[in-house]
Amino acid sequence: MEEDYVFKVVVIGDSGVGKTQLLGRFTRDEFHLDSKSTIGIEFQTRTVAIMPSRRRVKAQIWDTAGQERYRAVTSAYYRGALGAMLVYDVTRRATFQHVARWVAELRAHADKSIVVVLVGNKADLAALPGRREVEVEEAGAFAEEQGLFFFEASALSGDNVEAAFMGLLGEIYGAVS
Ligand code: GDP
Repeated sequence: MEEDYVFKVVVIGDSGVGKTQLLGRFTRDEFHLDSKSTIGIEFQTRTVAIMPSRRRVKAQIWDTAGQERYRAVTSAYYRGALGAMLVYDVTRRATFQHVARWVAELRAHADKSIVVVLVGNKADLAALPGRREVEVEEAGAFAEEQGLFFFEASALSGDNVEAAFMGLLGEIYGAVS
């Protein structure tokens, strides 16, 4: 199966927000409660058809593989990336407070035209009493102000994972085609 395009996408955000699991859900439809089985693997791919043109896009999606713990995500990681998924955890406010820092990192190291989707992950847990620490409205307003697309999602249930990645890939396709 020949693809028409290859898009590099990077997944960023604080440690433990669910980056590896979102990637696993999108590329293999898998989820692991005890994570880090994929450590050392730099990227995973999935080829999708972009509607309505049906052009085939191979998404090459990069995982930080834990580099963010040491604040050592290098500019090589961002090189050539057409899209970024910036993830926070809706049950850990600090991870949302750090989103602005990740946006600054993108502005400093990534291409000016990079398409960014902000994802509030672990939406399944937000349904439990007392667990939600970031409201949809607040994150949505921040995303709008910064020109980011925004979804809440759950790697565990799979909710909105496809929508977030496909939305990102569709936007990139629109920009390059
Ligand atoms: P990373 O450090 O950002 O790559 O985060 P991981 O993907 O390793 O996930 C960190 C932890 O959160 C793991 O124990 C995952 O099983 C868990 N996790 C990831 N996504 C979700 C989710 O959507 N819902 C719930 N309940 N747990 C999740």
